[in-house]
Amino acid sequence: MTTLFESVELAPRDPILGLNEQYNADTRSSKVNLGVGVYYDDEGRIPLLKAVHKAEVARIEAAAARGYLPIEGIKNYNKGAQELLLGKDSPLAKEGRTLTFQALGGTGALKIGADFLKQITPDSKVFISNPSWENHRALFERAGFPVETYAYYDAATHGLDFEGMLASFKNMPAKSIVVLHACCHNPTGVDPTLEQWKQIVQLIQEKDLIPFLDIAYQGFGDGLEEDAKVVRLFADLGISMFISSSFSKSFSLYGERVGALTLITSSADESTRVLSQVKRVIRTNYSNPPTHGGTIVSSVLNSPELFALWEEELSGMRNRIRDMRQQLVAKLKEHGVTQNFDFVLSQRGMFSYSGLTSDQVDRLRTEHGVYAVSSGRICVAALNSRNIDYVAKAIAQVL
Ligand code: PLP
Repeated sequence: MTTLFESVELAPRDPILGLNEQYNADTRSSKVNLGVGVYYDDEGRIPLLKAVHKAEVARIEAAAARGYLPIEGIKNYNKGAQELLLGKDSPLAKEGRTLTFQALGGTGALKIGADFLKQITPDSKVFISNPSWENHRALFERAGFPVETYAYYDAATHGLDFEGMLASFKNMPAKSIVVLHACCHNPTGVDPTLEQWKQIVQLIQEKDLIPFLDIAYQGFGDGLEEDAKVVRLFADLGISMFISSSFSKSFSLYGERVGALTLITSSADESTRVLSQVKRVIRTNYSNPPTHGGTIVSSVLNSPELFALWEEELSGMRNRIRDMRQQLVAKLKEHGVTQNFDFVLSQRGMFSYSGLTSDQVDRLRTEHGVYAVSSGRICVAALNSRNIDYVAKAIAQVL
């Protein structure tokens, strides 16, 4: 008799988690992990933000009971998350054309959105940027969609292949779902300019495509409001769309799974029907979201004092990353690198597509204990005043 699991094949290892395992097993004290997707402070630790800590202390003191949340989550959390995206005075919200659901991180928001899309437009194709966050493809494929890519990164210029991107959009069938990084593109750090976004938005409307904006790094580009500009550009058109947002990075609350799915519909009546269907998607996945992280984020978003503190701490993270970008470029020059790395300065968010080849990445790891993703992606937010000189020197030696 065969066993139930006999024919189960071993799934490939997650490349980034595999890299972490190798890093943890490395005994060199000088080792540096730039393969991660997490913000570390200058001490090399994941910070616990003061705003978060204050909200947590207040929550513990309140000794609140832990009943079930509504399926769509905490009302004030959803309101706060939506306002960060669309602004406090969104006409769409006033018209009842916006819906926000507390979700299990940005990933959870993408998953609810993908499942709901499969229900309403089952024959659509999904297009993701080339390259993209590696889970985008897997997630939409698992939801049952064929996933293709649109042109995005131009390795020759270390910048955006804007013409290629527009050409890809022009070739997409109507009702295709286009996943767009609204700011701080992961993995490249390359974003379109606002002028380019205007053309993209127009084309998406003309071609009757379905935008699914993913914003996992709001506040890491230029600021909370500035980074929402692209979302508002789309919202201004009033077209139906999906937005997944995440507080994992901006609140340094990775393990609490705090994110949101926001939808824009074309009428209040549509919203009522869509709300009821998305609630079914959630109910049959995990029933309702957890309380702790959502309560903390909601307290911060809805308290002017805690919000101001959070914004200040978020600016601190953003500025530290910028500083690391500048220092990296300067130190590469100091260590005799003649190749131009100035593109690192114009990339945004936590990551940089460094241009290092997979051979160079291998040598960084084996010869210097510096870990990066084989695509050459490095997490700039994992650099600090103690490891930056070592990393720049190591890069100089493998170039
Ligand atoms: N989308 C992008 C582009 C990301 O980079 C990430 C996380 O790395 C996510 C979504 C998922 O975020 P979360 O950890 O909140 O699920």
